[in-house]
This record gives sequence, C-alpha cells and structure tokens, in this order.
Amino acid sequence: MWAHFAVKTMQATTDTQAPAARLPHRSESHHPSRWLALLPYLTLPLFLVIIGTLVWLTRAHDREEQWATLINDVLWMEQNLQFELDRNVSLLGQLGPDLLSDEPYSARVDASLSQLLRAQSGLVRVLWLDANGRLRGAMPPLPADAPVGDVEGALLDHSVFQLARGVGRRAYGPMRQVADGSHQFEVHVPIYSEEAFLGAVVGIYSMQDLMLRELPWWFSERYRVSVLDADGNEIVAKSKVAPLSSDIRYSMAFDPPGRGLTLQITAYQGETRWVPLLLVGSIVLLAGIIVWSVWQLRRQLARRHRAEQALRRESLFRKAMEDSLLTGLRARDLEGRITYVNPAFCKMVGYDASDLIGRLPPMPYWDPEHIEHTLEVHNMILAGDAPREGVELHLRRRDGARLDALIFEAPLIDADGKHTGWMGSLLDITEQKRARELARQQEEQLHATSRLITMGEMASTLAHELNQPLAAIASYNTGCLNRLEQPDIDAEELRDIHIKLGRQARRAGEIIRRVHDFVRRSEPKREPLDVNAVIRDAVGLIESDTRKRRMRIETDLAPRLPDVPADPVMVEQVIVNLVRNGMDAMRDNPPGRRTVRVSTREEGGQLVVRIADTGKGIDAEAARHLFEPFFTTKSEGMGMGLNICRSIAELHLGRLGFESVPGEGTTFVLSLPLQTSG
Ligand code: ADP
Repeated sequence: MWAHFAVKTMQATTDTQAPAARLPHRSESHHPSRWLALLPYLTLPLFLVIIGTLVWLTRAHDREEQWATLINDVLWMEQNLQFELDRNVSLLGQLGPDLLSDEPYSARVDASLSQLLRAQSGLVRVLWLDANGRLRGAMPPLPADAPVGDVEGALLDHSVFQLARGVGRRAYGPMRQVADGSHQFEVHVPIYSEEAFLGAVVGIYSMQDLMLRELPWWFSERYRVSVLDADGNEIVAKSKVAPLSSDIRYSMAFDPPGRGLTLQITAYQGETRWVPLLLVGSIVLLAGIIVWSVWQLRRQLARRHRAEQALRRESLFRKAMEDSLLTGLRARDLEGRITYVNPAFCKMVGYDASDLIGRLPPMPYWDPEHIEHTLEVHNMILAGDAPREGVELHLRRRDGARLDALIFEAPLIDADGKHTGWMGSLLDITEQKRARELARQQEEQLHATSRLITMGEMASTLAHELNQPLAAIASYNTGCLNRLEQPDIDAEELRDIHIKLGRQARRAGEIIRRVHDFVRRSEPKREPLDVNAVIRDAVGLIESDTRKRRMRIETDLAPRLPDVPADPVMVEQVIVNLVRNGMDAMRDNPPGRRTVRVSTREEGGQLVVRIADTGKGIDAEAARHLFEPFFTTKSEGMGMGLNICRSIAELHLGRLGFESVPGEGTTFVLSLPLQTSG
C-alpha cells in the first residue's frame, strides 16, 4: 500500500523537490477557510429571520386587509338591517290608517299585509291597537286566549306603546323569549290622522327570522353573526358552524332595536392559504437542506484536511527517509528515460538531479569500458527480465572514480494499475568489493604463510632429504673422477654411474620443484586435476619426515578416477596438512600403530579423499572449535591448518568434515565435486 503510494507520488514528482513543498501550508489556508466555513452559519439564521419577518408582515397585512373587509361588510350589513327595519316601519305606518279605520280593511291592505309577512322581512306577526292600546286585530290572527294588554306575560309591552305614543315615533320593545324558545321583539309604530292619535301598528320580529332572511348567503359564508343580550348571552346566531375563537371580531350596538343588544360579527378563519404556506415550508426545508449540506461539506473538508495532513506527514516522512537513504533510487519510464533520482543517487554518481532527469541512455555515469554490457543490462531491465537477486554493474562517477553498484529493479505501477516504468535501487558496493578483494588477497597471503610455516617445519627434513641425493651425487662424482684417472676407462661403467648420478640430480630437482611449487604464492586456478597424482606428490614431499618420525603412510588410491577441476597446489596443501595432523595425533602411539591411510573414492558425483589415523582422536570440546582460526592443542602449533583446509575445500565448492572416536583415531573426509556447477 505504502509502496504504491510512494511510487505514485514519485511519479508525479519529476525532481528531487519535496512534494510537501507543493502542499499549501497550514497557516496560509486555515484562517480564510475557517471564516468561509462559518459564513453560512452566520448568514443562514439571518436569512431565516428575514424570511420569518416577511411571512409575519404578509400575515399582518393579510389580517389588516381582512379587518378592513370585515368593517366594510359590517357597515354594509348594519345599513342593510337598518334599512330593512326602517322600511318595515314605514310600511306598517302606511298600512296603519287602513287597519285602524272603523271600516273593515280592504283586500288590498290584506294582500299588502300578507306580502309584508311573507316577504323576507323578519316580521312574524302584525297587530294593530287602538288609541288606548287595545288590540284591534292581528295578522295572522291571534288565538282567543292570547294575553294582550298590560298584563303579566302579555304578548305586547304596554310601556313601549306608551313610549311610541309619547314620542310620536316608532319604538322598539325589549327582546323576549317565547314559548318555542325563539326570541322576539316588537316595534310600535304610532298612527296619526290629522294630528289625532289613532293607535299603533305593532310588528313582531322573530330575531331568528330577521337574521335568516336579512343576511345574504355570502355574508354567512364569511362571518358568524350573533346577537348578544345586555348580559352578554348569545340570543341568536347565524352561522354554518360552531363559534370559532377568531380574533377578528367586531361588536356593535344593535340599535334599533337597541336596549343593550349587541351585534357581534366574527370572521371565519379564512381557508388555509396553501401557497404561502407551501412557500414558507419549502424555504424552511431548503434552509434545512443548506444547513445539512454545509455541515456535510464541513465534515468532508475536515476529512480532506485530515487526509492532506496525513499525506503531508507521509511525504515528509518519505522525504526524510529518502534523504537518509544510502541507497540510490532512480526511476525510469518505459522508454528508459530517467524520471526521478534521490539525493543518495546523485551523491553516488556525482551528478545533479537536473543533469540526469529526462536523460535517455547512454547515461553519463556509465563506464565507457563496460558500455556494451551496461546497455545489455539496461535493455534486460526494460524487457522486465531483471534478476531478483540484483545485477552488478561497473559505473563511473563524474570525477572518473570507479563505482561498483548492485542494482535491484521493480516495476512502477500507478494508481490505475498501469505499468509506467521501473524503479531501481542502487547499492554502492565499491568498498565492499575492495574489501572482498583485500580479504581474498589476505587469505592467499595466509595460505602462503602457512605453507611457508609448514615448509619451515619441514626444512630440516627437507635438508636431510636433499642431503641424500646430493651426497649420492657427490659420491658418484668422486667415483667418476676416480675412474677417469685410471688409464682404461670403462665407458659402460661410467655411463652407468652417470645415469645414477643424473637420477639423483633429478630426484633433488624434484624435491626442490615440489618445495617451490608448494611455497609459491599463486592465484587459485582450476585445472583438470588427477587427485591421485597430487596425493603421490604430497606423500613424496613428506616422506622423509615420515621416515624420521617412524611413521608410515599407506595409500589406497582408486584407479581411473576422473579429473577434478581444482588448484593442484591448494589440494596438495590440504593433503599435506591433514596427513601431518594425523601423524601428530599418533605421536604417542606404539610403533605398530603409526600408519596414516590415505584413500580416494568416487562417490555420488564427488571425489572423496579420506585421511585416517589411529591417533588420540578428537573430543567433543575440541570438535566444537576445530575449524576456528588459531585453535590448537599443540605447543608449536599455529591453529590455522584446518581453517585454511576448510576454506580451500569451500573455494572448490567441496566440503571438509571428520569422524573421530577419541582414543581410536580420526578420519578427515575431503569431498570435491567432479563438476563445477555454475
Ligand atoms: P595445528 O596443527 O597448528 O594445531 P590445525 O588447525 O591443523 O592446527 O589443528 C587444530 C587442532 O586440531 C590441533 O591442535 C589438534 O588438537 C586437532 N587435530 C587436528 N587434526 C587432528 C587429528 N587427526 N587427530 C586429533 N586431533 C587433531
């Protein structure tokens, strides 16, 4: 995951500039963005308050309008009622003289009366009284037992009659409830004939009828009209529905008929006005959505901010890591063009990033001496065949110094999973190689030294060995000279002596050659080697020493062994060492048990040399340290022999091991592969 991210960021960065530098710095962006984020929170409530005020103002305006309409309508209604009542009074006044005359009234008057009662006037009955207030007639006619006159529960109020007669104009009576529960009131209209008071015509109104008849349908659609008595009790109401608690209500004195009556008009709650309601609702909803989305946006921003912070941290971390890396990093696109180098790479090759980015091969840091091989490796990498264990390349620094690098390549994959190039990491192994070379040289030196030491140890026996052929040569030479002084020289005899002399000289030469070969410091070389011959040589080399120490070397060499690719001197050194160790181990053995047995076998693709002694053996403690350098149990020993032997075996991809029974003897086993692999 991280690698992916890192690679992607690297792709985007084509120079060594930190990607962090491209990200806005926290303090730069923080304050304005905070204000920006707060702005909706500040403006939204303001917006809502304004909208609320607007709605309230509209409603207030609506109410005012409603109120104005109500007053208008009420005035109209009042006028209308007044007009009707007045009209009825005048009609009653007109009928009065006919009704009160002594003659029976005409059919026309009867028709007019009927008309008046039938018409929507609110009048339920008309009565006419003579000047003394006595009932003269009624329409519709009264039942015979109807209480009339100034009596308790009388149909008419005599005081009203008196009032009408007194003031000479119509007078309204008080409201009264009749048997059927309805409310009635009367109006007395005094009738005069040439200044003489004839009596009065009385109209009895049913309050319910008046309301029902006089108010048009549309009025009762809009308003509830009710009449209250002086105590505020509702006497009658005209309404479709029950009273509502509306605050748009108008009360006025109901005069005439007066007498404390109040007319109350209440506006019905207008039908719900859906459009403004919906409008307000949607505004509130939208405001809610805005608040919600701003909040979501803020959360999103916060998340983004966190992600940015994480990214910045990550890039800074990566940058620090990149800068601290000793490994050179270098990215290339699919054509091999350099797209990125890290500081370690620049330091390694001595070129600036700007010198390298965008370059196509051959690169300036390629070693001119190895340009072809480098190009081959380059093409191999681009073809995707770079070995996983890395490739070693010889490069050259800008100052001309040699640079040995170990290169590992990995494909660069972008966020879409597309292969965009290659990322290579370079390890500077120049020093390592130098150290390795030095170690190799030192090891070789050590080998040579150890050989010298071995030779030093063997010097006296060698001298002794050389002494033999030299003494023989000298004596043969003396013999020859003696023969030469004699007159009859036997040529045959002389020849024989010379042959023997020559053999001794060759023998001495052979000894010297072996010593020379052994001591000569040489590079390890692999040549087809007859190990049996090497063993014979080695045995020849230490033979005299063996004799001197009264030891024996027995060889049991398998015939027709295949050659082994190995260095003869090194293998000989191993054999000499192991045989000498065997002899050392048998130092305290009785004379009969002083034999080192050297055998060769071919076993499973390996050539196995066994050097067996019957010495003191190796105990567990010694076995643990046997191959460590400078481990020795001998007073004159150096402790390097086995260590060197094992490194020689490993140099030939072979092995050196041992089997030992303390007190009985030890067998060292050297196995060398018949074929060099690789
Ligand atoms: P050095 O011969 O100088 O001591 P080596 O590395 O050849 O050094 O041997 C290390 C030690 O291993 C010897 O000192 C000896 O104790 C032990 N060792 C080697 N070969 C034998 C053997 N064949 N039998 C018993 N001990 C042995």
